[in-house]
Parts: sequence; structure tokens; C-alpha cells
Amino acid sequence: MIEERERTDMSDDKEYLETTSSDKKNKDSYEKICFMCRRPESKAGKMIDLPNNIHICTDCMQRSFDTMNNSNINYDELMKNIPNMPNISMIDLSSLQNQIPNRQKVKKRQEKPKEKVAPKVFDIKSIPAPHKIKASLDEYVIGQEHAKKVMSVAVYNHYKRVFAENTDDVEIEKSNMLMIGPTGSGKTYMVKTLARLLDVPLAITDATSLTEAGYIGDDIESVVSKLLAAADNDVEKAEHGIIFIDEIDKIAKKKNTNQRDVSGEAVQQGMLKLLEGSEIEVPVGANSKNAMVPLTTVDTRNILFICGGAFPDLEEIVKERLNKTASIGFQADLKDKYDHDDSLLEKVTVDDLRKFGMIPEFLGRLPVIFALKGLTRDMLVEILKEPKNAILKQYQKLLAMDEVKLEFEQGALEAIADMAMEKHTGARALRAILEEYMLDIMYEIPKDDSIGEVIITKEYIQHTGGPKILLRGQELPQLEMQERN
Ligand code: ADP
Repeated sequence: MIEERERTDMSDDKEYLETTSSDKKNKDSYEKICFMCRRPESKAGKMIDLPNNIHICTDCMQRSFDTMNNSNINYDELMKNIPNMPNISMIDLSSLQNQIPNRQKVKKRQEKPKEKVAPKVFDIKSIPAPHKIKASLDEYVIGQEHAKKVMSVAVYNHYKRVFAENTDDVEIEKSNMLMIGPTGSGKTYMVKTLARLLDVPLAITDATSLTEAGYIGDDIESVVSKLLAAADNDVEKAEHGIIFIDEIDKIAKKKNTNQRDVSGEAVQQGMLKLLEGSEIEVPVGANSKNAMVPLTTVDTRNILFICGGAFPDLEEIVKERLNKTASIGFQADLKDKYDHDDSLLEKVTVDDLRKFGMIPEFLGRLPVIFALKGLTRDMLVEILKEPKNAILKQYQKLLAMDEVKLEFEQGALEAIADMAMEKHTGARALRAILEEYMLDIMYEIPKDDSIGEVIITKEYIQHTGGPKILLRGQELPQLEMQERN
């Protein structure tokens, strides 16, 4: 008898184990739902678990107790009588649970496993030497040799300064930078690449959105809270980061104005202490300070500031100065000597920038000044295919997933570069142009399994023909794609 009992118990156990394992699976992927108010755990808070997979939220549980306490029902009496009452049995709660349809259950968000990366110890030995920084930049940035060299040295010195022990009187000055270069010449791209190589947080802001504190716009200090956010609110990490302020030429002193210059000169003034290094109270997780946001202190002494701008008309100022000096004395030159000089910006001096509208104190805090060259047609062709993450390589990778090879004729690349040159937005135009041509290819190719290779021709870019399509296993072009209309 006892044996029999044990056997049935064991089979029950087995059943129980089976059901619990499948329940567990369900439990893991679905949120618990309150049996009474039907709210999921994410809304109602922690649930109290009852047998048979029933969950009750604390609110409902509390409410039930309150009701019981307030009513005068004699529960003991009631419970005793229930089995004797005809047609009334204890409610099977588990059958009710099944009434909650699946569509009313909320699937839990899958938490991404957090990457366990050992915190990188950033010290003087881990900073690559300037030639190594430049070599890494070379893999991504085409041309701009001078700019890459200046930047590598400045960054190297900056981090040396950060880790230098101030035991003697020699204090190394900050090497904040000012980059001058036409739009789309790679200013932002270089800074981004640099920050990634060094594995430091980077914040990119636009100087046009900044205004003096108290006026509509972002406070100047908001750039530091952006950096803090980029460093995952890790103050120590943020203090070794880089802040890139773009469109810096837009905060030049306004000429002939009687009003207070809240977005020009005042912003330059306001940035002085930031650039030099000071302790700034910044809101955590917000752009502006208010009563609801916690504040923390960030020291900007070791933050590297890089400012960039296109500085239109600066060339004229440089040219004017050069012409003036060239027309005096025995070495007088022709007046139009510098008219077609495309390296004029490299000859820029602090005085020229002052004339442009930057205040001397501001320029004094940006000791490393250098210019980027406007991109030529050949550089644009190289940008299309050479960098590590070149646009062509990206498309090739996309098509390779369909097992289709993608090639570009040199003439096609040149035609794309020509079109980009006409837009005067530097390398920025390349992607937009290419996207337009690749749309049809990316749409049509996956339709036909037999296609093995696509060659983009000059004719296709110039709308006088189609791309060459090779079928799998074929050497020669078999059919031309229909001409674009
Ligand atoms: P800006 O000088 O206006 O800040 P960006 O740095 O934003 O220009 O350049 C736009 C894009 O053009 C970049 O994302 C990058 O892909 C490409 N690019 C620009 N210059 C270069 C370059 N010298 N080498 C490689 N790519 C470049």
C-alpha cells in the first residue's frame, strides 16, 4: 500500500517537474499578470505568487484584505459550510488563469547581455606615438597630410601633458586646436576617427546653437554635459575626452552691431574658461540645469577642445595681407599672384583670424591652428574606394551577401567625382550620388539568382547606357541592364 502510494507520488513529481520546466520557460519570456486587475508586472509592480500560476499585485492584495476587514462575514463559518452546499465547490483558480488570453500577455523585453569589458587603463604607455596615430588616420582619411601630422603630434602632446607629473616648474600648455577647412573636407571625420582610435569619449556640438547663459539656445556649458553623456556619466572618463565644436566661424564677432552680441562675441568670451580648464557644474542627463536634475562637477583642464569651421572669406583676408606685403619694396609681385593659390588658407595667421572676428583671448587658447585642403577630383575618387570603410566596400559587402560581385570601372568613379565636385559640398555629396545609382541595382539584383557580377560603367553614371551584368559562371557580359530612363 505504502509502495503504491510512493509510486503515485513519484509520478506526480515527474508530472510536476515537466509542467514546471515548461512553466518556467513561459515565465521567463512572459510578464506576470495580476489575476485581478490584469495589469502586467511592469505596470503594477512586484507580484505575489500563488499556487497554480496565479499572481496578484500588491495593490489588489491590499484591497482584498481591506474589503475582508471591513465586511462582517464570518469566513470560518462560510468555509465550513461550502462543501455541504449543493452545486458549490471551491473555485479552481488555475482554470481561471487560463482565461487570460495569450494576446493579453506582454512579452518581456529581452535584456541584452552586458558586455563585460575590462576597464581600459589609459596611461602614458598606451598612447600611440605620433607616427602611429598618423598611420592609423591614413587608413581612413585620404590626403590632408599636413593636417593629419599636426593633429597626431598635438594629440600625443596633449595626453603626455595629461599624464605628466607636475614635479617641476615647467607646465605644459594645453594643445587645443583650430581646424580651418571647407565643408565636407573631413574635419568632423578626422576627429571622430581620432577619438575612436584613442578610445576616448567624444562630444560633437555646433557652435551656432550656443548662446550666452540666460538666452534662448544652449548654454556654453552644455557641451560638457554632452561629453559626460558620451562617457556614460563617468566623470573620470569624460575628463580625458575630446570636445569638437563645429561651425566655430559662426560665432565671430558681429560687425557694426549696436545690440548685445549674445551668440557671437559673448559665446567666445564664455568659452574662455572652458578652453583653459576650470571646474564646471554640469547637469547629469540633461542639457540645462534645473531643480529636477542632479549636478556633478567636471574639470575641463584635461579635456581636449578641437574647434572647426569653414571660415568663408578668410581667404580674401589672407590674400589681401599677402598682396599688401608683396606690393611693397623691390620684391613687388603681380597683384593677382595669389588669385589662384589653393593653399592660401595654410598661410593663415592669428591676425587674419582676428580680422575675421575671433577675439584674441579666444585664439590664444587654441594654439594649434591648421588648415585642411579642399578636396580635388582625384581625392574624391580615392575616397570612394580606398579608406577602410569606403562607400564602395560597403556596397560590395552588401551585394556579397547575395553572392554577387560588384565592380566599378575607373571611368564611372571619375564621373561620380565630377558630379560631386559640381555640388561644392566636398566628399559629402559622394554618398548621395552613389545611393541614387545603386538604388536600382540593389532593387533588381536580388530578383534574379543567376546574376553573378555587376560592373558599374561610366555610361551608366552618365545616363547613356546600363551596367554590365554577368551571369554566374560566365566570363563575358551577356546582357545589359535596361537603360535608365
Ligand atoms: P566637414 O569638414 O564638413 O566636417 P565631414 O568630416 O563631415 O566634413 O565629411 C563628410 C564625409 O565625407 C565624412 O563622413 C567622410 O566619409 C567623407 N570624407 C571627407 N573628407 C574625407 C577624407 N579626406 N578622407 C576620407 N573620407 C572623407
